[in-house]
Amino acid sequence: MGIAVADGISEGTPLENALVAQESIPRGHKIALVDLVAGAPINRYGHIIGYAKSNIRAGNWINNHNMTAPKSYSLDELPTEYQKPQHLGSITGYTFAGFKNHDGSVGTKNILGISTSVQCVAGMAKHVVQKIKKELLEKYPNVDDVVALEHTYGCGVAIDAPGADIPQRTLQNLTRHPNLGGEILIIGLGCEKLRPEELISPESSGSSTIIYLQDQRLQGFEQMVAEIMREAEIKLQRLDARRRQECPVEDLVVGMQCGGSDAFSGITANPVVGFASDLIVRAGGSVMFSEVTEVRDAAHLLLPRAKNPLVAQKLVDQLKWYDDYLAQGGAEVGANPSPGNRTGGLSNVVEKALGSIAKSGTSPIVDVISPGERIRRKGLTFVATPASDFVCGTLQLAAGMNMHVFTTGRGSPYGLAMAPVIKVASNSSLGLRWFDLIDLDAGRIISDGTTIEDMGWELFHLILDVASGRKEVACDRLGLHNDLVLFNPGVLT
Ligand code: CA
Repeated sequence: MGIAVADGISEGTPLENALVAQESIPRGHKIALVDLVAGAPINRYGHIIGYAKSNIRAGNWINNHNMTAPKSYSLDELPTEYQKPQHLGSITGYTFAGFKNHDGSVGTKNILGISTSVQCVAGMAKHVVQKIKKELLEKYPNVDDVVALEHTYGCGVAIDAPGADIPQRTLQNLTRHPNLGGEILIIGLGCEKLRPEELISPESSGSSTIIYLQDQRLQGFEQMVAEIMREAEIKLQRLDARRRQECPVEDLVVGMQCGGSDAFSGITANPVVGFASDLIVRAGGSVMFSEVTEVRDAAHLLLPRAKNPLVAQKLVDQLKWYDDYLAQGGAEVGANPSPGNRTGGLSNVVEKALGSIAKSGTSPIVDVISPGERIRRKGLTFVATPASDFVCGTLQLAAGMNMHVFTTGRGSPYGLAMAPVIKVASNSSLGLRWFDLIDLDAGRIISDGTTIEDMGWELFHLILDVASGRKEVACDRLGLHNDLVLFNPGVLT
């Protein structure tokens, strides 16, 4: 099987070994290189991605009309014998310039974070963020930004319902994000169910200030704003005194994600990200990969990479939890590929999963954590999150991500305010068209023959430059930042 590149293949085009295209095949789509009889397996990445529904002649287009998807396997059928995975060997001598925090974490940005305990105060948070940007921020040149941590949680929620621990620990861990320097300002209302005090993690070593808008001392809007501005300025002064210091790659926590994938994502951008991911791990740093629905159908390839049977079992447990969650909502994992994924040549979730897990490289998986938890170990961790870009990004931030790498084939203006997002295009058509929105064009692997290894090193160095504040990513330069979106499997009241 081959993949059509450039602008696709028109009918009658000569291909390799005297083969001629029997019909027009769109860019990114699959073409049969040999005759396939009905029922024959169709392979990609060395694994079965489907079966021929009818006889397919060499030179024909393979798509969902003539290919059936493989049956999703039960998680109980997975192999239980694990071999100890090989570590790839250390690399040394790589550093970046970051902001050291009291709790041992390191920031790649120096941000004043304004957290909120309930959506009722979001309008006030937005108002003061604009006012601080306009009136205060330029007095403190070492502070990069001021960001409101807004969300839809807080009240009207069944606070002890099953699953409600996820949004609560997410908010708690966002408040102690390494890029906020431990100087958090929390705006609460006063009558909400989620108490603002609960947003301060018991493990937080920074200084947190809570202002309640219903505080009896505050007479009207202007006094509320003045009180917040006064506290904000105290924190800006402390943040401004901080300086970047040389830090080992060990202090990086890099989250990998994809969104708007196409058929090239699995052969260009995701393997490049996987190579860079291995380099971060080999240099002692932490890497996270996520997106349960895109990983589930490639679990048989991930389990042998688990550090020990306990980690393997944790991975299976997380995937099972998500199967149940989807079943409750009447959805199934096969619903994952979007219309854009399919137009881009990805036929089903198995094909998407095989391309998606390339982002995790080949390192051993040292830990698996639940959504909203903070990572515990150096090395490669699976953070169980939905595939939705903003939900995954929010949960990776809660896990402590200080650098984000995001691959896209169809194109997405995705960005986060709390951590830099490096956007990698899977094809040069997108890389050229979105010249100012994309940070790295991995389509060069097809268009000019750059190797995955060379581009993996290029991405590794770009991560160090961005983490050090030496280079600015496109979404920060353009001010394109998505909202934080909480994952709340619990009920609302
Ligand atoms: Ca995603």
